Amino acid sequence: MAETILLVEDERTLSELVTESLRRHGYRVETAFDGDTGLFAAETSLPDLVILDVMLPGMDGWEVCRRIRENPATRRIPVLMLTARREERDLLAGFDVGADDYMKKPFSVNELVARVGSLLRRSAPGVARVKAVQAGRLSIDTEKGEALLEGAPLDLTATEFRILEILAANRGHVVPRDVLLARVWGYSAADTRTLDMHVSRLRRKIEEDPENPKILLTVRGRGFRLCGEDDRHENP
Ligand code: CA
Repeated sequence: MAETILLVEDERTLSELVTESLRRHGYRVETAFDGDTGLFAAETSLPDLVILDVMLPGMDGWEVCRRIRENPATRRIPVLMLTARREERDLLAGFDVGADDYMKKPFSVNELVARVGSLLRRSAPGVARVKAVQAGRLSIDTEKGEALLEGAPLDLTATEFRILEILAANRGHVVPRDVLLARVWGYSAADTRTLDMHVSRLRRKIEEDPENPKILLTVRGRGFRLCGEDDRHENP
C-alpha cells in the first residue's frame, strides 16, 4: 500500500508542485493549508510522514510539530520542516520541537523527495535489528522500539531513537560521524551540525550532566560511542 504523506503548506503553488512530485513517486498525498487543519489531519489520518511549513496561518509549524510530538499516537511520525527563514536560532528551535529533518526554502523538489524516501525507509519495520542493549543507566530495546532510563520510558523522536539504535548496535565502539549521518539520514549531503544538534538534544534526555556525558560519548575527531561494559568500571 502506498505510504501517505501529509503536506502542510500555505503557499498553493509550492503545495501543488510538491504534491504532484510526490504522487509521481507513488505516494498518497494529503494537503492542509493552515496549522490547525494540519494538526487535525495528522491526528486523524495518522500519515506515514509529515512535511510541515513553519510560517503558517493560525498555529505555526513549530507548535504543530510540538503537538505532534506530545501526542502518543503521532509522536513517532517523521516530521520534515520547511522554512524560509535562515537564522541559526530557527534551526535550533526546529530540533527543539522534535523535527527529524529540515529544509530551507528555496529547495530542490527532487532533494525533498529523496529525503522523504530516506526518512520513510529508516522508520520502516522489518529490518534485521539487534535486540535489547544496556549502556549504563540506559537500555535500548530495538524490537519494541523503546528506550528506558533506569527503567522509565524515554520520550524520544524517531531520529533520536535511530541514532541510539545505531550506536547501541556498536556499543563500546566508535561510530564515525559520516557513517552515522549516512545511516540516519541516508544521504551524503546531511549537515554534520544537524547531527550535533540531535546528539545534544539526546544528551539532555539521557545524561545526568549533558556537558559531561557518561553514556553517549564524543570521540574527538572520529565520531560517537555508546558506553560499553568496560566504561562502567571507569565511572563507578
Ligand atoms: Ca508559509
